[in-house]
Amino acid sequence: MVEKKLPFSKEQIEKIVAQYGTPFHIYDEKAIRENARKLIAAFSWAPGFKEYFAVKATPNPYILKILREEGFGADCSSLPELILAEKVGIVGEEIMFTSNDTPADEFIKARELGAIINLDDITHIDFLEKHAGIPDIISFRYNPGPLRGGGNAIIGNPEEAKYGLTREQIFEAYKIMKDKGVKRFGIHTMVISNELDPNYFIETANMMFDLIVDLNKELGINFEFVNFGGGIGIPYRPEEEPVDYEVIGQGVKNSYEEKIVANGLAPLKIALECGRVITGPYGYLVTTAMHKKEIYKNYIGVDASMADLMRPGMYGAYHHLTVVGKENQPHDHVYDVTGGLCENCDKFAVDRKLPKIDLGDILVIHDTGAHGHAMGFNYNAKLRSAELLLKEDGSVEMIRRAETIDDYFRTLDFSKL
Ligand SMILES: *Cc1c(COP(=O)(O)O)cnc(C)c1O
Repeated sequence: MVEKKLPFSKEQIEKIVAQYGTPFHIYDEKAIRENARKLIAAFSWAPGFKEYFAVKATPNPYILKILREEGFGADCSSLPELILAEKVGIVGEEIMFTSNDTPADEFIKARELGAIINLDDITHIDFLEKHAGIPDIISFRYNPGPLRGGGNAIIGNPEEAKYGLTREQIFEAYKIMKDKGVKRFGIHTMVISNELDPNYFIETANMMFDLIVDLNKELGINFEFVNFGGGIGIPYRPEEEPVDYEVIGQGVKNSYEEKIVANGLAPLKIALECGRVITGPYGYLVTTAMHKKEIYKNYIGVDASMADLMRPGMYGAYHHLTVVGKENQPHDHVYDVTGGLCENCDKFAVDRKLPKIDLGDILVIHDTGAHGHAMGFNYNAKLRSAELLLKEDGSVEMIRRAETIDDYFRTLDFSKL
C-alpha cells in the first residue's frame, strides 16, 4: 500500500487555485528530477545508457527541458514532437524517431535533425530512401509475433499489434541496409504497456539479446544499441507498488553478461523510451467541486472534464482522488465524480468512497503527469486546461496557458459566412 500524498499543503494549493483558477495540471519538478536520477542510477552499469523520454506522454517543452538537464533524450513520433525536441535543444542522436505510418515530411525533418530513425516496417526502407535518403545509422522495430522463435510466454500477444517487423522481415531488413552501405545499427521493440511486473522487462531484454546474437551470426552485424521501448507501469491504485528500477537494471545486467558479453558483442548500448513512469506520478489534475446532484446515484460535478484527462472515460482507468483537507476524514460517502461532457463516460470516478464533499472543495486527481493533458481534446467545445510547474523552490510557473475560445475558433473563418 503506497499512500497517495500531495506535494503541496492545503494552504499552498488554495493560493495556487486563487491565482490561476481551476482546472489545471500541476507537475512536481523535484519529484520528476529525483525519479529521473533513480532510473539512470539503475542502469549506471550499462555503457552509454540512454532514456529517450516519450514526448507524447507530456509534450511540454518545460518538462522536456528538465528531462534534458537530467540527461534524457527524446522519443518522437510526429513532426510537431520533433520540433518540440529541437526547441529545447534535443537534437541529433539524442532523438529517437520511433514512428509508424509515417509521412515523408516527418522522415525528412528527422533526417535534418540527425535523429536516429527507427523504422516500423520493411517497406519503409524504400520510402525513406526515396524521400529522405538512407542515414548512417538505422534501427528497426521488432514485433516478436505469436511468440515463436525468440518470443517468450511472459510477453503478451504482440501478433495483434500493428507495430514492427516480423522475425523473418527483420533479418531481411538489416541485410538490405547492410547492402546499402549502412554501418551503424540499432534495434528496438516495445511489446508491453503500463506493466508493473519487472520480469516482463527482463524477459524483453532476454528476447532482444538472443535476437541480436542471431542477427550477428547470420549477417555479421555488430549492434550499437538496443532500445527496449517504454511501458513501465505506475501504481495508479494505492494498493499497487511502484516498479523497482534496480530490479530491472540488475536483471537486464545479468542477461547482458550472459548473452552479449559472453558472445563478444559488448559494448552494446541500452536504451529505453519510457514516458508514463517518468512523469505520470508527478502530475496532478486540480479541479473544484461545482455541483452536487442526487438522483439514482450521487454525483459531484467538477470544473474539469474528460477533455483534461481522457483515461478514466476512455478505458475505465482508475485515478486516485484526494479531497484537499479531508484526507483524514472518514470515506463514508459514495460518489460518481463527473465532468460536463455530454457523454456518460465523462466520469473521473465511479462509485468512489470519499469523504463528504462540499461545493467549492478542491479535488486533486492523481497520476496525470503522463498521457493526461497530452490526450486532451476539444469535443463538445471543451477547452483544455493550463499546465503549471511546481518548481524545486516551491514557486509555481505556468508552463502552458489554458485554451481560450479564440483558440477554439482559430481554424474557422467567420467572415465567409
Ligand atoms: C507510447 C510509447 C512509448 C512510451 O510508453 P509509456 O507507456 O508511456 O512508457 C515509448 N515508445 C513508443 C514507440 C511508444 O509508442
